[in-house]
Amino acid sequence: MKSGEGLKNVKRMSVPFAPVFNWSVGNWMEQFFDGLKQKKILASKCAACGRVYLPPRMICERCFDKTEEWVELPETGTVETYTMAHVGVADNGELEDLPEPQIIAMVKHDGADTCMAVRVDAQDCNVGLRVKAVWNAEPDGVLDALSAYRALD
Ligand SMILES: [Zn+2]
Repeated sequence: MKSGEGLKNVKRMSVPFAPVFNWSVGNWMEQFFDGLKQKKILASKCAACGRVYLPPRMICERCFDKTEEWVELPETGTVETYTMAHVGVADNGELEDLPEPQIIAMVKHDGADTCMAVRVDAQDCNVGLRVKAVWNAEPDGVLDALSAYRALD
C-alpha cells in the first residue's frame, strides 16, 4: 500500500524545512581532537584492565569500567588489515570516484590495543606493514590534522 492510499480527504502540502544541527563528538573524542591540534595522539586507558583505546572510548568494552586515564601514544603503528578505496565522499555527502585509489587501513598504534581507520600513502600495503603518522602542515580543520600514514623505512 502506498503512503496515503485508501485515505479520504487527505490534503498534501509542502513545507520548506532547513534544519540546523549542533552535534557534539562527546568529551572523549573532543580530548582526542584537542590532542591532534597539538600533534599528540591521545588514547584512553582503562584503569581496571589496562586496555588502551585508540580512537578513545569512554567505556572499556572488556570490563565496562569508565576509561578515565589518558596516554600519549607514539606516531608509529602496524597495519592490521586494509582495503583499496575507489570512491570517496564528496562535500555534498554523495559518493564520488577518487582520482586515484586510496589505501584505507586499520592501524594499531604502538601501545594501543585497538585499531584506527586511516589512509596510508604507500606503494604496497600489507598486513604487518610498519607505518608512521604524517601531520598535515596546514590542516583544513582538526579532522584533517593527520593527513595520512606512510610506510616506515
Ligand atoms: Zn577494562
